[in-house]
Amino acid sequence: MPPVFPAARAGMAAFRGSPLVCMDMKKKRRKGNGLLKGMVIICVVLALILAALLLVGRSGRAGGQTASSSGADLSSEAAAPAEASEAADSENPESGRAEEEATASTGSTALSLTDEDIHKGDLILVNPWNAYDFDANLDTIDLVNIKDNQSVSYPCDKSDFELAKHVLPHLDEMIAACNAAVGTNETSISSAYRSMDYQQNVWNEAVANYGEAYAESYVAVPGYSEHHTGLAVDLGRTASDGTAESFTGSANADWINANSWRYGFIRRYAEDKASITGTSNESWHYRYVGVPHAYFMYANNLCLEEYIEWLRENTSESAPYTITCDLGTWDVYFTQSHNPARPDGEYDVSGNNVDGYVITVKKN
Ligand SMILES: [Zn+2]
Repeated sequence: MPPVFPAARAGMAAFRGSPLVCMDMKKKRRKGNGLLKGMVIICVVLALILAALLLVGRSGRAGGQTASSSGADLSSEAAAPAEASEAADSENPESGRAEEEATASTGSTALSLTDEDIHKGDLILVNPWNAYDFDANLDTIDLVNIKDNQSVSYPCDKSDFELAKHVLPHLDEMIAACNAAVGTNETSISSAYRSMDYQQNVWNEAVANYGEAYAESYVAVPGYSEHHTGLAVDLGRTASDGTAESFTGSANADWINANSWRYGFIRRYAEDKASITGTSNESWHYRYVGVPHAYFMYANNLCLEEYIEWLRENTSESAPYTITCDLGTWDVYFTQSHNPARPDGEYDVSGNNVDGYVITVKKN
């Protein structure tokens, strides 16, 4: 379905109407109306054209805001249907961007979601079967340097690591809480955002050093890496003298595995989900999805592929699922509609990178 921008269409209609006004003006001239009258009419026509252009411009901006606010997630990889278990805890409201989106309201009672919006947002499914859409995210991905912008200090293997701007505060908070719980300051970042070229180098190195079979198990084919999204990090441990230590099996890994949902992160590749995710067990790879979704997946032992499928099968605009935890309550549903009703209050829209959108509405 084509994107719907009602205001833009109204503007275009007004603009198209202007030639009729011109013809009218010519008739009057033939009737001998004075030059002054003609000038007045021209002014009126110009004013109408200007008004039409203003309308078009305003609707264009509105469309842009709507697009940037959306990002849904649905997974094409069907996972085993999960049981709907009620969440009795809650997760952190992640409302900053949702508030911006609500503020961006054009006054319309429906959202205007585009096909491109399917490929944006915190819930996009990127796996061996669903490539990251670089073009769709070109204007909206907002990367920041981790070292330059972190609010608490922790080591990064490289000084140029980047992450999506809205995710960094949650990562900072999670690492600070982990270090406090574990009693060291060793939690570090060993990988973050990767461009296409960067992932190609990672792939080539893995093949050269460990062979293709290893690369296929642990390294995403360029274009299919979650690291392209700016929403994923690889965690590590770095001793105070700079020595890299094992993250797998550490107290840090255990704590983050149990608590990452509180900061909106999921452990993306678990051992018992490898056949569904297409990626072998990785204790270190965490992906930001937002608190309610991270909570639900953690509480129900679902990987992202399974969760996306579960939402598609079990929710709709008329029958959202309520996720509740000690951090809040949200209504969540999947839709393929380009124009679902604009929710009241704080909400977030994310594409699933496959065939629709996930709408998340903060309840309290
Ligand atoms: Zn990773």
